[in-house]
Amino acid sequence: MPTALIIGAGIAGPVAAMALQRAGIDVVVYEAYPAPAADIGSWLGLQTNGLDALRAIDVDRTVSGMGIPTPSIAFRTGTGKVLGEIPTGRPLPGGATGQSMKRSDLHRTLRDEAFRRGIEIRHGRRLVGITSGVDGVVATFADGSTAAGDLLVGCDGIRSRVRELLNPSGPRARYVPALNVGGYADLVPPGDRPGVLTMTFGRRAFSGHIVTPAEQTWWFASPSRRDEPADGELGRISDAEWRYSLRRLYGVDQSPIVDLIDATPGPLTGWTTYDLPAVPVWHDDRTVLIGDAAHATSPSSGQGASMAIEDAVILGQCLRDLPVPRAFARFEALRRPRVERVVAEGRKSSRLRSVGPVGRLARNLVLPLVLKHAAGTGAESLAWMHQHHIDWDAPVTAGAPTNQPS
Ligand SMILES: Cc1cc2nc3c(=O)[nH]c(=O)nc-3n(C[C@H](O)[C@H](O)[C@H](O)COP(=O)(O)OP(=O)(O)OC[C@H]3O[C@@H](n4cnc5c(N)ncnc54)[C@H](O)[C@@H]3O)c2cc1C
Repeated sequence: MPTALIIGAGIAGPVAAMALQRAGIDVVVYEAYPAPAADIGSWLGLQTNGLDALRAIDVDRTVSGMGIPTPSIAFRTGTGKVLGEIPTGRPLPGGATGQSMKRSDLHRTLRDEAFRRGIEIRHGRRLVGITSGVDGVVATFADGSTAAGDLLVGCDGIRSRVRELLNPSGPRARYVPALNVGGYADLVPPGDRPGVLTMTFGRRAFSGHIVTPAEQTWWFASPSRRDEPADGELGRISDAEWRYSLRRLYGVDQSPIVDLIDATPGPLTGWTTYDLPAVPVWHDDRTVLIGDAAHATSPSSGQGASMAIEDAVILGQCLRDLPVPRAFARFEALRRPRVERVVAEGRKSSRLRSVGPVGRLARNLVLPLVLKHAAGTGAESLAWMHQHHIDWDAPVTAGAPTNQPS
């Protein structure tokens, strides 16, 4: 049985491990964190295309019911004007819609399911080097240990060491010019329906919130900031400073965000986000990149986790049906156009969040039309993004693509 070293046990890693196992490959996952990570991260979207990919390897049931079903996204201005509402994609057969969920819950569930399927995750193994040859690949870790296999899958996220080794001269993660802060408030804004993710283009800054069926509200705020904060800078901003500056930014709007901030236990902490311009090299003869390591998208696309999951499952199909390195080449041919289109969409929508007064006027005029098209079935529709379908049993050949929008 061929063996694979999977580097990184975030979202892509455990799913890749399960997909490769199903393809008849012996896998071990190596994760830099010394122990299973606790509640790290905020909340994210798992879209219908991500759920469909999990369904292809029978993992969707383990995540269903974990998040907040999120069938639609509403857009408003800071004056309270409704710009439009779009569905997050056609529900899957059986009715599952896109979900909003805590990243830590998704991560824990995927990791536990991989473990239940007999997959070993070794913690405290930070990959530093790779040597490959005709007999296979050897990974070297920061603690001096090594591991050998037939192939290596880099699932090590936006700061991927595997990517650096395959692409010594870049590219590097690109700062998305905004700060992020968020939390969970025991408050339901009057008039808000559970499951509608509301995005507000405030006069001074952008924010989003969603009411949970348990009558909490999850929220985030994204004040624009052109220059990337220095290392450690956000960690030095106190809870009181965050609250003061957020009130100044959002207090001018007719939105519930200030009330939500006030109803959120502290401490508030901020984070930065990144995307990744096209990565020239995704693979060599023994090593391949997937997920954020290959193509991170701005969070405004809502597709980071879903793209990572799709990658993992399609890589499993390619390795089931083709030998390396042809499997890697096929994987790249199937995935690159789609993920680069998603990254471009994410960049475009994050720009809309931080326009000046003139741009704001234009945006508020044009966006209702754009949203109408996005929700429809025409050329501007987002169906290509959400209705991607993976049939696990469909053979992967060196030529024709197998997985199509349904
Ligand atoms: C701690 C954390 C919190 C996050 N929080 C959010 C959030 O709140 N909202 C959101 O939208 N997205 C969040 N993300 C990003 C989101 O998970 C990814 O965009 C997406 O799910 C793609 O998953 P991925 O598996 O490719 O990358 P990730 O989920 O980033 O997983 C990469 C994994 O690789 C490990 N790793 C990194 N380098 C090495 C190495 N050299 N050797 C071994 N292992 C390594 C990391 O520790 C991590 O577990 C977070 C990521 C992390 C790591």
